[in-house]
Amino acid sequence: MKNRGYYGAFGGAFLPEILVATFEELVKAFEEARQDPGFRREFEEIMTNYCGRPTPLTFAENLTKHFGGPRIYIKREDLNHTGAHKANNVMGQGLLVKRMGKSRVIAETGAGQHGVATATMAAKFGFQCTIYMGEKDVDRQRPNVFWMERLGADVVPVRDGSRILKDAINEAFRDWVGHMEDTHYVLGTACGPHPYPEMVSYFQSIIGMEARNQIMEQEGRLPTRVFACAGGGSNALGVFSGFPDDSIERVAVEAGGKGLESGRHAARIASKDGNIGVAQGYKSYFLQDSDGQMRETHSVAAGLDYVGVSPILAAMAKEGRVRFEAATDREVLEALTLTMNKEGVIPALESAHAFAQAFKEAPDLSGEDILLINQSGRGDKDIFTIADAYNDSAWGDFIRERADHYGA
Ligand SMILES: *Cc1c(COP(=O)(O)O)cnc(C)c1O
Repeated sequence: MKNRGYYGAFGGAFLPEILVATFEELVKAFEEARQDPGFRREFEEIMTNYCGRPTPLTFAENLTKHFGGPRIYIKREDLNHTGAHKANNVMGQGLLVKRMGKSRVIAETGAGQHGVATATMAAKFGFQCTIYMGEKDVDRQRPNVFWMERLGADVVPVRDGSRILKDAINEAFRDWVGHMEDTHYVLGTACGPHPYPEMVSYFQSIIGMEARNQIMEQEGRLPTRVFACAGGGSNALGVFSGFPDDSIERVAVEAGGKGLESGRHAARIASKDGNIGVAQGYKSYFLQDSDGQMRETHSVAAGLDYVGVSPILAAMAKEGRVRFEAATDREVLEALTLTMNKEGVIPALESAHAFAQAFKEAPDLSGEDILLINQSGRGDKDIFTIADAYNDSAWGDFIRERADHYGA
């Protein structure tokens, strides 16, 4: 197949020669697994009995009343094991690693959610595990580093480049080149060279499949609009896959950071700052300057703070099948506060981007409309960032006391 792994003009597999055979092995293993009903049964078994799926679809009665228009529903990926949608992909790839007979997994992580999910999977399946994490992220995501290490993973701080997610990805590829026989790279989102975008969105499509059945059961009709935050794009593709219908608007919400005009954001498609290019093994929109240098990105949500975006989402945007929007850090904190107070759920800062955009649009819609928001993860992981944003002085005192306890 000549156009394997291309979505319109986007995607592909731009690989160093040395990795070509390893990728062919992976493509073959994934294609065979996907055709095998036994593999699907194994995947569903672990999703049900280990991860706790299906996750609920919650009618947000108080938010619905608050806006006085559309009926608002929340898909609860925060209740998936390890607290986010990440485990769907990670467990799926773990089963594939078993099929390929490999014994070691490596992964990149930014906020640490994908690292924790991968370390969890490695513990469960008995694999050796190394997690690459930018040094800057190691410093700001200490609780997740703590859990990865307790779960038995080696966490390697990456000191190259800007010492964040994209640098961790480069380092993970470097490791893989040296250990192709026994190692699989568990990429965390629907980016990277073929087959990752397709494979990751395949495992994440369980979100959309469940959500469609649940909304049909509860409402007897489909939603008007479906909202998801978009970092690499895996939770968005997961939920959108359940709603391919022409009648439904799919809205992907990027990190607007300090505002699109400030240049300090991670909006590759919603802003004018993104360009089409090839980086990290695939073709898509990237935040890069005219000579291909990656720009610094900014978001209050570490999981959205990435220069690239899924080639599948890029193609859908080009075809007009996904509308891209951005929510600023400030809008996100407001949406988070409202959701906590009205519904008693704590969305992750990433997920709160989807809520913020839905709340911007809700006042213009009617009681006939249904909004579905994908809550990609839980927000209690963000306690340090959120406490900072709220300027919570009692929290500051608590941290100082803990520091004293450790003799700092
Ligand atoms: C990692 C993460 C994201 C961003 O990744 P996508 O691939 O865009 O889904 C969003 N929300 C949460 C909670 C995450 O952990």
